[in-house]
Amino acid sequence: MAKVAPFHSKLPGTDVYHDDDICTVGDDRIESYHRVPGTGGLRKCSRCRDLSG
Ligand SMILES: [Zn+2]
Repeated sequence: MAKVAPFHSKLPGTDVYHDDDICTVGDDRIESYHRVPGTGGLRKCSRCRDLSG
């Protein structure tokens, strides 16, 4: 696994951020042009929490 700087989607309805490269939730759901750095004050997605604690 590869931990990366936190990122999230700027799309409305986003309620989690990600911080792992291989999180498929992030890869599948966040297009590169929607992806913005930082947590956005959101909670970490459950998959990322499983991956990186
Ligand atoms: Zn994630």
